[in-house]
Amino acid sequence: MSEGQDVAQKINERYRELSPASATAFAAAAGSLPGGDTRTMITYDPYPLYFNRGEGARVQDLDGRWYHDLVANYGALTHGHNHPELIRAVNDQMQRGTALGGPSPLQYQHADLLCARVPALERLRYCNSGTEATMWALRAARAFTGRDVIVKIDGGYHGTHDWGHVSAFIHGGKTLRQPLLDLPPANLAPGVPESVLMSVVTVPFNDANAVADVLARLPGRVAGLIVEPVLGVGGGIPARPGYLAELRQLTAQEGVVLIFDECATFRLGPWQVKHNIEPDLSTFSKIVGGGLPIGVFGGNAEIMAMFDPARPEPLYHASAFGGNSLSLAAGIAALETFGGAEISHLDALGDTLRKGLDAAARKAGVVGRAVGEGGLSYFHFGAVQPQNASDTAAARRGRDQLRALVHLHLLNEGFLTARHGLMCQHIVTDMSVVEEFVEVFASTLRLLRPYIGQYHPDLLEDVPLPAPGAVR
Ligand code: PMP
Repeated sequence: MSEGQDVAQKINERYRELSPASATAFAAAAGSLPGGDTRTMITYDPYPLYFNRGEGARVQDLDGRWYHDLVANYGALTHGHNHPELIRAVNDQMQRGTALGGPSPLQYQHADLLCARVPALERLRYCNSGTEATMWALRAARAFTGRDVIVKIDGGYHGTHDWGHVSAFIHGGKTLRQPLLDLPPANLAPGVPESVLMSVVTVPFNDANAVADVLARLPGRVAGLIVEPVLGVGGGIPARPGYLAELRQLTAQEGVVLIFDECATFRLGPWQVKHNIEPDLSTFSKIVGGGLPIGVFGGNAEIMAMFDPARPEPLYHASAFGGNSLSLAAGIAALETFGGAEISHLDALGDTLRKGLDAAARKAGVVGRAVGEGGLSYFHFGAVQPQNASDTAAARRGRDQLRALVHLHLLNEGFLTARHGLMCQHIVTDMSVVEEFVEVFASTLRLLRPYIGQYHPDLLEDVPLPAPGAVR
């Protein structure tokens, strides 16, 4: 066996040695859950760790091992796992009921907090997930403009509804010609009807000319443009300076509803507040529910007025647990304890992390770099700093096994990250954890050098010899 294969085998063996209870749980789960889990995006081989509990910024697996949580439920959490204010809010509300079959003041209390923080959010409504929130924002854009076509970003992830699962950077499905315009082919997830492509057009991220071109070639037909300010699943790529301002201008000129999907980027401020660009509609989820399911869509009061049931033909929006008291009580506690200081802490953790990962790669002599913004970070192998999903696909191509080994080794060392590369922290994460993590990341890459040399020689650089007397 080669040295590279040996390293890979040892990492896998150690993972299995450390997590026998998760292996047993995985086998048991396969009896009722296809693939032993319920979230395709976050599962991994040989089997995912099954968790028991969380405390602060750590989680414990079924074998009793603790892990530093550097993924924060894939960006959905910010407060750690047992924040006292959130526990109190949920416990109190639980005594009084979760959904009483009528509106409660918690709805406008939570809404007021959000609207005060996000100026473009004049009116809003609640649902239970980011998927629902973006689905409703698209529906609202279509209803308001009386037009059908949605422009979405190639690799943009907006949840799992049919309109969102066009070129959403997930595996499988069909790649088809875009029938509306002569544009590069789009990917449809299995089960998404081809007819969706009659009303969804995809363009590359960070390319405002591509949007201008679509709007010019489909005059009067585009209802909305939906975009994540940081392309999340598509590689953690921040919008280049000026990009979203250009989209703001182009959409305003053509009467197109601009939708910022800020389900992941709320932790940045949200992005629109930090960068002072106002979309017509926004979607939020995750953090604003304080650890419980929530979705929010809202924005311009005139557009949102379509949901007013007192209107002759209101937009019919229903959701049995939309605006439920438990999520709102937790969400209020979360918003009240997530202000400028907390966001700055997440930003500082993210900045230190990205600098540290870049330095770790240099130190280990492996070509790769960190990308992201504020408390959202990713690591990509290769020299290219991705600007869009095609760049991310190129950076990942043929490197799944390498990424898997990095991920498993980091777990073996007690650090939880996402296999696809996402790293997010909690407001209760200490800077020392990030510093420790980048050291472990460097040693992981060093350990993997024989493997990388064998399978990805293009990623190896000579490690410069230390200066005489320097400590490395
Ligand atoms: N939009 C974005 C930007 C997201 O990151 C996500 C979740 N990963 C969603 C929408 C979908 O949210 P949910 O999983 O709650 O449906």
